[in-house]
Amino acid sequence: MNKKIIVVDDDPVNRTLICSVLKKYTLFTAEDIKSMYNIIKENGLPDLILLDVMLPEVNGFEAARDLHTEFRNQDVGIIFVSARTEGSSVKEGFDSGGYDYIKKPFDSIELIARVENQLERIERENKLRSDASLDPLTAVYNRRYFKHLVEQKINFCNRKNMKLSIAMIDLDNFKEINDNFSHLAGDYVLQTFASQISESLRKYDLMGRFGGEEFIIAFVDCCKDCSYSIMERLRADVEKRAFIFEGNDISLSFSAGIADLCEIESRKSVYHEILKLSDQRLYEAKRLGRNQIVI
Ligand code: GH3
Ligand code: MG
Ligand code: MG
Repeated sequence: MNKKIIVVDDDPVNRTLICSVLKKYTLFTAEDIKSMYNIIKENGLPDLILLDVMLPEVNGFEAARDLHTEFRNQDVGIIFVSARTEGSSVKEGFDSGGYDYIKKPFDSIELIARVENQLERIERENKLRSDASLDPLTAVYNRRYFKHLVEQKINFCNRKNMKLSIAMIDLDNFKEINDNFSHLAGDYVLQTFASQISESLRKYDLMGRFGGEEFIIAFVDCCKDCSYSIMERLRADVEKRAFIFEGNDISLSFSAGIADLCEIESRKSVYHEILKLSDQRLYEAKRLGRNQIVI
């Protein structure tokens, strides 16, 4: 995919010059920080921002700090391109979160080399980040990263008085699928189940693999009655669906237990407590005969 770069410079000649050097990328240009934000609002964060320092109203260093605060959980790639050549400016560039600092007038070959170097570094880091946060079989969050994200959401929802509920899911009689069809068939069912469910969630809900054939979903801004109706629809979908592997028609069902953030009285280890409650309800669903959801 073509990398996106925003070139922020108040001088139109500089913008044109930089763009002519970097023409193999998808480029956006902005004459000030406000129009840079408009571009981000419309297109999302780019792969890289080439940021002038001396700009009208907000300067590049302040803008870099603001960007890192606003997109706290994302990698905001910034390279300063500035006519301020003194060491203290370069230092301030790095201190404010720039990855590199190019002095004007710039050398075209050097500019390309530095841009490529940063883009490669960002790609490597993104790969490492996804390796560390995703379950390799199902590509939903792994248990450790899910906990990290949900603890953040719990704090956020508590602060904002928002609802949050957790569904703990366990596939029913999954061992039989492995025994009757093979572990590869079991893997296929796990992958297909995880992608079917995660694709049908809203974008701010989170799904993780808790262990073997167990998954967890955090429904944000959604009480347990609301997540129950979502889960009930998913349960009916899974029950109806045929998982076809190597010509075999495999049927599947799951059980789930749901708990609400507002049911947890303790202010400490909230994550642990809400999981415990949803897990108890999951066991109740199993006890009642499986293929059902208990709230
Ligand atoms: P229940 O309805 O009580 O949950 O029964 P179950 O058979 O689903 O539960 P049990 O805990 O007895 O078996 C879970 C099985 O899930 C056993 C294990 O081999 C299988 N499993 C766990 N992880 C994987 C995996 O990554 N791939 C495959 N193919 N199977 C897995
Ligand atoms: Mg299990
Ligand atoms: Mg099971």
